[in-house]
Amino acid sequence: MQDVAAIGHRIAQIESRIAQVSPPSASFDTVLGEAVVAELRTVPSTNGPYGVHGTARATGAAGGVAAVGSGKDRVDAEGVPLDLKAHGNGTIPASALSTVAGTSHSLWEPAARSLEALRSAAAGDGVTVGITDSYRTYGTQVDLVRSKGLYSQGGLAATPGTSMHGWGVAVDLQLDSTAQAWMRRNAGRFGYVENVSREPWHWQYVPTR
Ligand SMILES: [Zn+2]
Repeated sequence: MQDVAAIGHRIAQIESRIAQVSPPSASFDTVLGEAVVAELRTVPSTNGPYGVHGTARATGAAGGVAAVGSGKDRVDAEGVPLDLKAHGNGTIPASALSTVAGTSHSLWEPAARSLEALRSAAAGDGVTVGITDSYRTYGTQVDLVRSKGLYSQGGLAATPGTSMHGWGVAVDLQLDSTAQAWMRRNAGRFGYVENVSREPWHWQYVPTR
């Protein structure tokens, strides 16, 4: 009976959190909140109130899959984080981004947390995954086009306003051949994909669908 009471308490907490959130994030949190409540209502009493945390998954309207408890791990069909979209590419305030632990690099929070886990796993295998670039402002992208040329014209820089670095979901990594091979074997487990040809250093975080 203690577990049932605890679950009821947790549901009340979630419902009060849903009531507190304001638009535009309300729709995402509400969808997730309902999923969490539904999840908790089906938990066997022997499982405890927090037994589902970290394993339960909720599918959002955009088709993305979010870890229960975060509510933020959602992207649109182009891979743009829903909770950052309103800020615009390359014009995201620092307060809306998250630092990758042990570095000065910033990313969308789920991408930062996942990259930390990836780098720890690599380190555990004796492999160093260095970071050379992460979130990039619109102004930096303009400078980069000047110095590296447009990708569409044989250069290495995306048109300002279209780079996934401007959404805080792409990183450029410093990888020796061992690390490059490690990334190709393991990065997918952490949601990172190598998706720009001619740029083996460029990896994008795409939440598991
Ligand atoms: Zn890149």
